[in-house]
Amino acid sequence: MKLLFIGPQGSGKGTQAAIISKELNMPHISTGDLFRSIKGELKQELDSYMNSGKLVPDELVIKILKQRISQLDYKKGFILDGFPRTINQAYLLKKITNIDKVIDIELDDETSIKRISGRVTCEKCKVGYNLITEPKPKNPKFCDICNGKLIKRADDNPKAVRKRLEIYHKETEPILNEYKHLTIKINGDQHIDNINKEILKKLKEF
Ligand code: AMP
Repeated sequence: MKLLFIGPQGSGKGTQAAIISKELNMPHISTGDLFRSIKGELKQELDSYMNSGKLVPDELVIKILKQRISQLDYKKGFILDGFPRTINQAYLLKKITNIDKVIDIELDDETSIKRISGRVTCEKCKVGYNLITEPKPKNPKFCDICNGKLIKRADDNPKAVRKRLEIYHKETEPILNEYKHLTIKINGDQHIDNINKEILKKLKEF
């Protein structure tokens, strides 16, 4: 099964994609995580787009994504999270492979912004927490699991978040039209466990 996860910033799409990837034993490819993990000469170029909330140009996205996919065992399928993000990327993906189902996690902008303002990630093991909503860490500075330092993403600042949401509505949301017949709509304004249950239930029914 090849799944796409789509949703605005803060909708929990990355969290849910990671959980479902473990539950269904399929690789999870997050282009955002992939770009954040890149070191060396490309890092500066990627950061210049990401830190201001802009999209990375398609040619660069495709180059990095192809490299990553070639290293994966995806016989059982895969979960794409954060790609495609534009109509053009959806067309490029169509040329490479088909998609079976699209999980569209819906959330209003106000809740999105509130969630993002509390979002922190462990510097060491990359687990995500939220200081305002959930999951809250026991100590706001350190990871519950590995005691690593909790840090804010560079692009989780108010200016970049506004830009990212604007791009989401303008460039990403329209691609749902391309996948209308494959789309499962999920209410993102629920507890993480309930969103997960809703996704699993609807995946079985659909
Ligand atoms: P995310 O972790 O999905 O919120 O992505 C963080 C940032 O990475 C985005 O704001 C973009 O700058 C960049 N990015 C991730 N995926 C893509 C993509 N498919 N196309 C262009 N830029 C992307």
